Amino acid sequence: MLLREIELLFNREPEELYQSARTIREKTLGKEVHIRALLEFSNCCQNNCLYCGLRKNNRLVQRYQLSKEAIVSLAKKADQEGYGTIVLQSGEHEDYTEEMTEIIQEIKSKTNLAITLSLGEHSKDTYESWRKAGADRYLLKIETTNENLYSKLRPECSLRKRISCLYNLRELGYQVGSGIIIGLPGQTIDDITRDLLFLKELDVEMLAIGPLIPHKNTPLNMSRKGSLELTLKTIAIGRIMLPYAHIPATTALRSLDSTAQAQALAIGANVLMIGITPKQFKEYYQIYPSSKPMNLASAKELIKSLGYTVGEGKGHSPKSPWKEVTTNA
Ligand code: SAH
Ligand code: SF4
Repeated sequence: MLLREIELLFNREPEELYQSARTIREKTLGKEVHIRALLEFSNCCQNNCLYCGLRKNNRLVQRYQLSKEAIVSLAKKADQEGYGTIVLQSGEHEDYTEEMTEIIQEIKSKTNLAITLSLGEHSKDTYESWRKAGADRYLLKIETTNENLYSKLRPECSLRKRISCLYNLRELGYQVGSGIIIGLPGQTIDDITRDLLFLKELDVEMLAIGPLIPHKNTPLNMSRKGSLELTLKTIAIGRIMLPYAHIPATTALRSLDSTAQAQALAIGANVLMIGITPKQFKEYYQIYPSSKPMNLASAKELIKSLGYTVGEGKGHSPKSPWKEVTTNA
């Protein structure tokens, strides 16, 4: 798909665009919506992303890290509650490489869950040990492919390194998730168009598109929120470009508008993430100010009310035949 064709999609009447995306979604993925359990097990981070409330220089947040036992026990509970996938997310730091390997092995041996990791940038060796331990998927958003914007927003990080991490994950056989933030200061439609081309080229199995929600204790505190319409249009175009990708109706969307996740599901998104982080820690995992979270029962109700069904099983990518790793490291 060429740049020009994507530009034309952005210029289409929203209703027409949404209808095309919905038709494609129902043709490729049917009516299933997958529900994932999201465990935010640590808010410690060595990075300083200008948009994020967990950035190292935000001294106003109390840092926490759940123990291995606590993580495994929450995973077991999620398994019993009927989730097919657990997403383990945290800030980025190198200390827990080995512990993480053990956590993955233990979750895999004690539950029937698929595991998605979202732990930032690590070496290929580290990604390999987690993959061999049984991790199935990895979510690493590129955030923006505009080099200038990237280096301003993610000081001391490099776009090139993030891209090489994504290709390493691909080589290691992960189902790769990536995505972007909509509404970054200075970001243009042309930038978003190029981001989508990059994600298409990488052929992601999961595409996460969420609006910027400014956090008061970050340098972007005075920025505007990402636009709902632009986020929805980008999701719809993402669906048209990547018909088989899993696309979450992100929690950031919910922070924009209480009906935004339902709108996203109606135009091509097919995944909901439900936070299972214990209450006493959740208040410290403020990447952005979040609205009241959705629980499992209300997620199921929402799915039904839209005429969709709750996805069965682990909800692996339907894009290609998926092989699970059975060998332990
Ligand atoms: N530390 C890991 C994973 C946790 S952050 C990483 O950075 O990859 C998960 C995602 O939160 C990021 O990819 C980013 O896209 C999103 N995020 C951070 N701050 C945000 C904000 N203020 N508004 C919207 N999304 C934000
Ligand atoms: Fe850390 Fe991720 Fe937040 Fe950046 S976005 S500061 S890497 S938690």
